[in-house]
Amino acid sequence: MMTALAKIVHTAPEVEAEPELTDGFHLVIDALKLNGIETIYGVPGIPITDLGRMAQAEGMRVISFRHEQHAGNAAAIAGFLTQKPGICLTVSAPGFLNGLTALANATTNCFPMILISGSSEREIVDLQQGDYEEMDQLAIAKPLCKAAFRVLHAADIGIGVARAIRAACSGRPGGVYLDLPAKLFSQVMDAEAGQKSLVKVIDPAPAQHPAPEAIARALDVLKSAKRPLIVLGKGAAYAQADAAIRSLVETSGIPYVPMSMAKGLLPDTHPLSAGAARSTALKDSDVVLLIGARLNWLLSHGKGKSWGEPGSTKFIQIDIEPREMDSNVEIVAPVVGDIASCVQALLDGMGQGWQQPPSDWIETLRTKREANVAKMAPKLMSNTSPMNFHAALGALRTIVKERPDAILVNEGANTLDLARGIIDMYQPRKRLDVGTWGIMGIGMGFAVAAAVETGKPVLCVEGDSAFGFSGMEVETICRYGLPVCIVVFNNNGIYRGTDTDPTGRDPATTVFVPDSRYDKMMEAFGGVGYHVTTPDELTRAVNEAMNSGRPALVNAVIDPAAGSESGNIGSLNPQSGIKKKK
Ligand code: ADP
Ligand code: MG
Repeated sequence: MMTALAKIVHTAPEVEAEPELTDGFHLVIDALKLNGIETIYGVPGIPITDLGRMAQAEGMRVISFRHEQHAGNAAAIAGFLTQKPGICLTVSAPGFLNGLTALANATTNCFPMILISGSSEREIVDLQQGDYEEMDQLAIAKPLCKAAFRVLHAADIGIGVARAIRAACSGRPGGVYLDLPAKLFSQVMDAEAGQKSLVKVIDPAPAQHPAPEAIARALDVLKSAKRPLIVLGKGAAYAQADAAIRSLVETSGIPYVPMSMAKGLLPDTHPLSAGAARSTALKDSDVVLLIGARLNWLLSHGKGKSWGEPGSTKFIQIDIEPREMDSNVEIVAPVVGDIASCVQALLDGMGQGWQQPPSDWIETLRTKREANVAKMAPKLMSNTSPMNFHAALGALRTIVKERPDAILVNEGANTLDLARGIIDMYQPRKRLDVGTWGIMGIGMGFAVAAAVETGKPVLCVEGDSAFGFSGMEVETICRYGLPVCIVVFNNNGIYRGTDTDPTGRDPATTVFVPDSRYDKMMEAFGGVGYHVTTPDELTRAVNEAMNSGRPALVNAVIDPAAGSESGNIGSLNPQSGIKKKK
């Protein structure tokens, strides 16, 4: 290139300036910026080290993690929070694979995300000649995400990024893989042509209006109900149709149950919330309107004893993905479209003459809810040491009530299941958790992105085991000075800390070093550590930490005997088929 340019200059002295050039690095950055993407989550290394540096120099926020999986989780939840694809940037082969778990998880959860990974050279990879970090990444990513693309020419970067954005955001959102081989980054082209090659994606998630017949059918079924129920899923939270959804609930007068990440879409204290009467609501309802919630394992597949007598429940489902309908049971009224449009159409169709559901149904749920809340109350108030889960969560419940705009990140087994039930949420998209897979390890990645994307304080409630998956990112949180308060529920192990090895040789498979001091990890990087053993101490520590807006970790000592196997989902643990000899 240089020689060619020199030649032009030599033979044509009237050409004064060399043409301005751009390259692959700059085109990737320009393409992202053009599409309103301001943040990259990643781990630097060959061949993308300079991409991160240059993106930072060009004014993008580049958040470097210690492990790609957590950068990937950050990107995924950034997508959920903003409706723009979160970007994760990884190095080739091992870094790519580390990011892939998060990409697959994002796809499973319907979060828009793009994993951009550097890769080795095609010529060598395809002949399997053993390049540095050789791997056919595109082929590996394909079955694990919504779409996968590779760009070989700098002039195609604009289209490649545009396709990735559109694939991630349109229809059912999901994860997209974008493969950028090392050589692409240093490819140069004329800057003006490069600029022209960029594509600004217009309307990346176009409205999809439901068919009027589908709305009429759904309203007919809803009208026939004696015990109707709305189930709000995280698709409803993602859709950011908060006012319309609230209006649908209140206009229809139909009680609702929020799925975990839909909590707070309406405040959990709303009179129509049946969250605290969930079992009764599911079992006894006759018509259920699903809004952005799938009938997967989290809803017992829409059948079995959780749903009462076989065939006693009719389902109406709003979803953007037509193939979601009838995935587990018959959907008598499928409503395919985006949630904002579908909910609005239902509201319009209800009109003036809408009949509220029979009051005995509302009363049944209210009574059940009040009974459950009353039963729980004393457990939440005990000031015991060591704490059990209820006592510790009772303290955090009050803190979240007083700080409704804080974002709660939650993972663990008992820590997750009990926190979900105990901690009321008051605003949409404030509860981020283990999602569809019930995956451990999302904690610190979600916390970083929640703080970066929203600027709000973050409270992470973590089981000690769950925390371990991403604990090293405490350094990341300190490095960027993020307002994250982590509470580790430390019961010395997985589920509980009391197991022993029957042979007496090793620690049991489920226990950790007893009385570990996770707070010291935070102190190691300049954050504030707290060690607490009572709910009062916990309250004081978390309030102080959240008031300071600085990184903090509270090691909350929980009774090692508290907690049950696998939390609420112990029934999913296979049992040995061999009967023990008497
Ligand atoms: P939960 O786990 O809370 O029940 P799921 O992840 O199972 O939620 O379901 C979310 C559903 O929402 C998915 O089926 C997805 O296709 C759907 N969805 C996501 N965004 C939208 C949207 N904007 N409009 C309609 N449906 C959506
Ligand atoms: Mg534990």
